[in-house]
Amino acid sequence: MTAGRSPDTRATVWDREMAADVDRTRVASSATRVHSRAMDRSHFIDTRLVGDARITMILDGHGYWAPELQVPEAEWRAALPQANAAGEVGIDFCGAHIALGDASILIDLGFDDIPPERGHWATMRLRRTPGVEAVLAAIGVRAEEITHVLITHAHGDHIAGAIAERDGRPVARFPNARHLIGRADWERNPERNSPASLAAMHLGGLLSRGLLELVDGVRPVAPGVTFRHAPGESPGHSIVEVRSRGETFLHLGDLFHFPCEFEHLGWIPPGRDQATTILSRRDALERARDAGALLAFSHGVFPCWGRVSPEGEPAHWMYEVATR
Ligand SMILES: [Zn+2]
Repeated sequence: MTAGRSPDTRATVWDREMAADVDRTRVASSATRVHSRAMDRSHFIDTRLVGDARITMILDGHGYWAPELQVPEAEWRAALPQANAAGEVGIDFCGAHIALGDASILIDLGFDDIPPERGHWATMRLRRTPGVEAVLAAIGVRAEEITHVLITHAHGDHIAGAIAERDGRPVARFPNARHLIGRADWERNPERNSPASLAAMHLGGLLSRGLLELVDGVRPVAPGVTFRHAPGESPGHSIVEVRSRGETFLHLGDLFHFPCEFEHLGWIPPGRDQATTILSRRDALERARDAGALLAFSHGVFPCWGRVSPEGEPAHWMYEVATR
């Protein structure tokens, strides 16, 4: 096992693998799915057992984002030394699949099929892997077999995979799944009234098909799997807890974006509710420590696995790789 602490200087798979592949990627960027053929599946799929639960992290893409953490620039730059002059940081976009008992559960829907240089992602210089649906197929899971989709929150990178185009018609990508999202991310989401918004297209599309359930508080999903309201990043933001045979996994969604936020619970991007975020972060950390939980968050460095230091304040995030 290797473990690292913030500052978050670990290069992502993409930084390492793609740096030498720039020309080929540029040529390939007109394709719907942009990825290097040199990458093997271990670069976008990583599976672990938590008790009887088989949990697979799925890398959907890599892009650049300026988090604008609401602290003096010198402070956040010390914690994120890889940020460029514009304050942008390379981040991974990760979903997850949980197989436990009869449940086949997807956490977050990822991006749509629109070429990343068009659509909503143009400013992020997004590069795609084969995508969530293809990765699921690679681990033997067909889209029709997904029983639940747990949507941590309504930001575009987490919902845009909901409705896909097939033969020129919009269809639910996971047609047999019950899709769950925190109620406020729909009911208090101003984007729902803009027909061209991702929320209207994808969450509205699920709702009109009877596939979206708005949930409150703590919602049991399947034996051992719980969806828990953890607001702040958005009003309905929720996290996922898996318990099996005395082991615990917590998928934290976007409650944290970078390791430095575990040490500085008040460091958040603009537009979020800071006080609520801090409360949700404290609660999640307490829960993680009580259970000695394996953790992941959506924009961690793939494969995203990690833990927090078991005691002491502040908590420290430690990436965990290669323990299989
Ligand atoms: Zn996100």
